[in-house]
Amino acid sequence: MSYLSKVISGRCPNCGKEKIFYDKGNSITFRMPKMSPKCPHCHYNFHRETGFYFGAMYVSYGVTVAEMITIMVLRLILNEFFGLHISMLDAFIVIVAVLFVFWTFNYRVSRIMWLNMFYKKE
Ligand SMILES: [Zn+2]
Repeated sequence: MSYLSKVISGRCPNCGKEKIFYDKGNSITFRMPKMSPKCPHCHYNFHRETGFYFGAMYVSYGVTVAEMITIMVLRLILNEFFGLHISMLDAFIVIVAVLFVFWTFNYRVSRIMWLNMFYKKE
């Protein structure tokens, strides 16, 4: 299983059978995603050590910046090739809305990426 397929599936990096997050959370109701402490199938410990997921904030920052750049590139394409006049303020409002809707997704993806970055076969 490649790194990308592990991140996309969101499953245990050790066995690939069980999901790391048992609750996806809800961005509208501010319900946080819930992570299992261990894999129910192979008992791989998802909480490697105290403060392990602190570094996932840096991954989350990268994911967020990638989403912002994508929106700005879309704005550029729509303005240049389709003749629309989307202002920077409109693009900023779209960015805020997209980041608000996707914050649970970013939280889960950044933690899954971080966990898979430091996975070693036990
Ligand atoms: Zn497992």
